[in-house]
Amino acid sequence: MISVRCPHCDVGLKVDEKKLPSDITSFKCPKCKRLIPVSMLSKKEGEGFSSSDTVLIQPVKKSLGKITVVADANTREQLFPLYEGIAVIGRKSSQPTQATIAIETADRSMSREHIRIEVKKDPKGGYKHYLSDNNSKNHTLYNSNYLGNGEVVVLNDNDEIVIGHTVLRFNV
Ligand SMILES: [Zn+2]
Repeated sequence: MISVRCPHCDVGLKVDEKKLPSDITSFKCPKCKRLIPVSMLSKKEGEGFSSSDTVLIQPVKKSLGKITVVADANTREQLFPLYEGIAVIGRKSSQPTQATIAIETADRSMSREHIRIEVKKDPKGGYKHYLSDNNSKNHTLYNSNYLGNGEVVVLNDNDEIVIGHTVLRFNV
């Protein structure tokens, strides 16, 4: 535990540095909601807080992602939460498929099992989302680049995936 003062609102904070993910550069002050640089934690300060002005920082939890299907002429907006494990995403069909997320769309260029997203826990208690093309006929655009055969990318907030003519947005 490290004690610091929020540089914005001056509240005393107790931070469990071991619970902060190593890949973040700042965290949110629970009182004023502004960002505090992680580098402040290396400064040992803040002795003599009274317990009343001390807020315990919750460990930063990275959450499960979700996929938003962006509405267009062929498709209405749809939202699909992701869970730990493998999701196969494609066009909804009356035929049986392996897809776990079936998108209602008139976009025939979307395969029925177009992409895979594997969700795995990372050691910091968050989740990582791995996207790959599922040998689809028309391939998959990830942030405007085609995914290669067998290529796997780690999704980040606001990434764009295009399957067929349909745009999907990934958010955490
Ligand atoms: Zn603050």
